Amino acid sequence: MEKIIVSACLLGDKCRYDGHSNYTPLIKDLKEKYEVIVICPEINGGLSTPRIPSEIKGERVINKKGKDVTKYFDKGVDYVMTVVKYFNIRKAVLKEKSPSCGVHNIYDGTHTGKVIEGQGWLTRRLLELGVEVYNENEIEELLNK
Ligand code: SF4
Repeated sequence: MEKIIVSACLLGDKCRYDGHSNYTPLIKDLKEKYEVIVICPEINGGLSTPRIPSEIKGERVINKKGKDVTKYFDKGVDYVMTVVKYFNIRKAVLKEKSPSCGVHNIYDGTHTGKVIEGQGWLTRRLLELGVEVYNENEIEELLNK
């Protein structure tokens, strides 16, 4: 069965910054077609739950208190990329708008709730590697391929 990486919060893990999940029922169907490898780059990078929310600002990641947390995001991405390369993973389903996992949109870096076009810290690296990245609203599209 082909392996796929999936954001842990979509599977129901309460690893979001606020201690909640983003459980998405279609993940059940995904598991019938793919071997799901669970990742949460922010936790994998050493951050805890709950945590202060962060946004990408230019080439850095800054939390709402103004602290530069880029090193944690870099560490989390390095961890996931090791997994991706080891298992030769070619597909991912990630949580939209997250500063790590955003697929088409992220917050604009001002911590004011404004969403812009852009990709999360992990998504950028996956796309560079040629991995197909889907958000939670595109699972059906992926299942129908
Ligand atoms: Fe979900 Fe990704 Fe945020 Fe972890 S980093 S909580 S997997 S969106």
